[in-house]
Amino acid sequence: MDSSDDESGEEYLFKIVIIGDSAVGKSNLLTRYARNEFNLHSKATIGVEFQTQTLEIDGKEVKAQIWDTAGQERFRAVTSAYYRGAFGALVVYDITRRTTFDSIPRWLDELKTHSDTTVARMLVGNKCDLDNIRAVSVEEGKSLAESEGMFFMETSALDATNVNKAFEMVIREIYNSVSRKVL
Ligand code: GDP
Repeated sequence: MDSSDDESGEEYLFKIVIIGDSAVGKSNLLTRYARNEFNLHSKATIGVEFQTQTLEIDGKEVKAQIWDTAGQERFRAVTSAYYRGAFGALVVYDITRRTTFDSIPRWLDELKTHSDTTVARMLVGNKCDLDNIRAVSVEEGKSLAESEGMFFMETSALDATNVNKAFEMVIREIYNSVSRKVL
């Protein structure tokens, strides 16, 4: 986190990571939030990428630098550098694929192992537009999130349901916990 004073007032910069199994919709959640775009087939080239979004909270400029694994997880090779300095995480599964939900505890362990601070975490059940072929109930998602002390939201990167809300809840939670410390 960087915080600095200049003529425009206080500024914050937080790193947020998106994790979860391959093809759950991580890249599309990020492009939906940062660029309001959705890609049905195209896949980012392998390598870590991030996008920066700015939010105004309490009259302050809060920037979130949101990182996407961009395919690293396909090789079980998300590096510790990816997690370093993260203040927030969206941990994503696909509501139509049970195995991606079963992987969540592994992702949470990995996050815990590699992060060096308290991380604001949100469990995200993506692809809620595909309710007709759902394999994980809303209740199961909620109850896992509760037991892990995380926020929970179902999203659709395709139709934009809850995408801004999910990112912004995490950003606000980080901002609140940091400003509580400063006060
Ligand atoms: P990643 O590997 O986790 O980054 O997943 P991608 O963002 O590349 O998405 C994987 C596939 O799922 C792509 O074919 C997307 O078009 C599709 N997808 C992603 N999000 C959604 C969604 O919310 N709804 C639906 N129906 N498809 C989605």
